[in-house]
Amino acid sequence: MLRQVAEGVLIHQSEFMQSNAVVVQGRAGVLLIDPGVLDSEIACLANDLYQLGQPVVTGFSTHPHWDHLLWDDRLGASPRYGTARCAANARDQLSDGVAQVVQAAGIPDQVPLDLLGLITGLPAEMAQIPWDGPQVRILEHQAHASGHAARLIEERGVLVAGDMLSDVLIPLLDLNDTADPIEDYLAGLRLLEGVAGDVDVFVPGHGSIGAVDQVRARIDQDRAYVHALRDAGFVSDPRLSATYGKDWLPGVHERQLRGLAEKSERDGTPG
Ligand SMILES: [Zn+2]
Repeated sequence: MLRQVAEGVLIHQSEFMQSNAVVVQGRAGVLLIDPGVLDSEIACLANDLYQLGQPVVTGFSTHPHWDHLLWDDRLGASPRYGTARCAANARDQLSDGVAQVVQAAGIPDQVPLDLLGLITGLPAEMAQIPWDGPQVRILEHQAHASGHAARLIEERGVLVAGDMLSDVLIPLLDLNDTADPIEDYLAGLRLLEGVAGDVDVFVPGHGSIGAVDQVRARIDQDRAYVHALRDAGFVSDPRLSATYGKDWLPGVHERQLRGLAEKSERDGTPG
């Protein structure tokens, strides 16, 4: 079911990991950001858009993780974009075939994989998504995943945050593709903080939509977690024991701690 969060901006939330697909209405159709995950959910979204008489004219993937790189025939054959880094990373992952990605990421059965990751990279200097609709500013940073892009729809006051500012997931750091995952994450948060004043509503990749009065609190919560991780300090993050993540997020947290410790040992930095 589509839900309006601002004029001309609609959200479709998947049951799977509370993933949020974002639909932006343009002049000749919609921009669709991260369509969702399960086959049935993407079919539902395609049907909703059909009922509204709104074809998808442009697609966009926020970052190169499988749950944000999906597509389906029923959404049509519009161009699909991501940042240049995002597209290159997706291509790399797929170079050994889809089956390899499925296995490495543990992708569940009911996911449409035929069009996984087939996105075109936008040149780094391109600051807007190229399409016929409200301007969508691309805010690229390297937190969470290489080529991760938040997007600001300025005239609607909507920030699409990608996999940050979630009320259900702790910050998940990219421990593979980056030299300094902590600093990259903090830089990403600073970038979002820089536009917080222009935001009426924000949409995380997973979890609840937030209103203007929550944006700084979510940024602070993410930053506090990252600081605690950096300092290997005590973490009392409510997200570790809430919602669907309570069975597995504590394990992810332990892995992040271990991964950072191993990394600083390898790099010979004190830590
Ligand atoms: Zn995600």
